[in-house]
Amino acid sequence: MDYKKHITIVEDWPKEGIQFKDITTLMDDGKAFKSAVDEIVEYAKKVGAELVVGPEARGFIVGCPVSYALEIGFAPVRKEGKLPRETVKVDYGLEYGKDVLTIHRDAIKPGQKVLVVDDLLATGGTVDATIQLVEELGGEVVGCAFLIELAYLNGRDKLKGYDILPLMTYE
Ligand code: 5GP
Repeated sequence: MDYKKHITIVEDWPKEGIQFKDITTLMDDGKAFKSAVDEIVEYAKKVGAELVVGPEARGFIVGCPVSYALEIGFAPVRKEGKLPRETVKVDYGLEYGKDVLTIHRDAIKPGQKVLVVDDLLATGGTVDATIQLVEELGGEVVGCAFLIELAYLNGRDKLKGYDILPLMTYE
């Protein structure tokens, strides 16, 4: 499917010079959204995922339907102070700013095969931080799936050795 026609490019948002890729117009279209999720579900099966992990907030939108379809769990990665129980945390840099991400300490079983899902790969800071959290808890990252890769930001360089599925790439 041609997913790109469902993505809206918003100039100068959230800051001047940023060309934001808005996925809500893909989500709006039930067939396109289902097709995108289905492709990630097939990928998750191929890599043998036993758990989906996604960073807030758009990683939930893409990751939760994948875990639902496969009847496997979903573990949320959230900004500091949002998860109610004991967490592990990591500092990370993103395309526009710096932040901290956390995950519940008991979210992953040692050796569990984890698929990391987010809407978009930009500089790779968010997914790199998410992988660090998964690995700190003993999980094995078997793949990373995104709706969109912004190839010009070279996020792939941070993901050497990991399997990556982008459904769309912007060069
Ligand atoms: P990175 O950490 O790879 O630099 O940035 C990726 C993260 O920022 C993702 O969690 C994603 O949701 C968000 N992000 C950055 N740029 C965009 C964009 O243009 N569109 C969308 N939908 N998300 C973005």
